[in-house]
Amino acid sequence: MPEMPEVEAVCRRLRGEVVGRRITGARILRPSTTRPQKPHRVESQLRERRIDAISRRGKHILLELSGGSTAVIHLRMTGDLYTIPDGRFRSASVRALLELSDGRTLVFDDSRALGKLHVYSAARIESLLETLGPEPLSPRFSEECLAELLGASRRPVKLVLMDQERIAGLGNIYAAEALYRARIHPGRAAASVGKVRCSRLYAAINQVMEEAVAAAEIAYAVPGRFEAAEFPLQVYGHEGEPCHSCGRIIRRIPQGGRSTYSCPGCQR
Ligand SMILES: [Zn+2]
Repeated sequence: MPEMPEVEAVCRRLRGEVVGRRITGARILRPSTTRPQKPHRVESQLRERRIDAISRRGKHILLELSGGSTAVIHLRMTGDLYTIPDGRFRSASVRALLELSDGRTLVFDDSRALGKLHVYSAARIESLLETLGPEPLSPRFSEECLAELLGASRRPVKLVLMDQERIAGLGNIYAAEALYRARIHPGRAAASVGKVRCSRLYAAINQVMEEAVAAAEIAYAVPGRFEAAEFPLQVYGHEGEPCHSCGRIIRRIPQGGRSTYSCPGCQR
């Protein structure tokens, strides 16, 4: 599942290819399964708009369009966004096609069809995104800011880290890795993470995200690869294997309906 680093890599890959191009044709082949916008409306809102910028907020890709509206793409489990030379020769899992003024086609490919492509007005997009927390690696995400949001919650620290309204863009895999590096147990109550642990966690989150974006850029040079394949995961998915640091066996624990991984020796 693409997490923030993979989504960021998709944005970086696309920026040089589509920014400044006009959308000459738009076709929604398969709309979203949950609360879809009307396909013909989305198509007409995309047509004849220029793509002025590509940005990212949390796991949302934002195509900023001339005229002030924004196309928002959420890749979810299997989505990808890439250009092909000719839209006729597209994969069967393509859900939307945007023909560009340079003759190429931007496709939203999504085999499980859980992702979303919506178009919103400037006012609507602002209200949708204002609920998202600060981004790791951004100036808004300071150590004080992390301490404040952990201090305000008795929920397990890992669930707080994954709450998009608290921190935008940190998902299951990288939250587990950051907690391992910071030597904090994922189940520890957020408010009990003291100053020293918080400082380690802040450094670990930034470090993990920086490395993960760099790794995702390499992996996503080829469209359609949805694994953090280039990132050396140390705990996530390593249940039953010895910890690199202390040799104790890494455990898988269910938490908030997902699996998390931690080392009983290192993480307290
Ligand atoms: Zn260990």
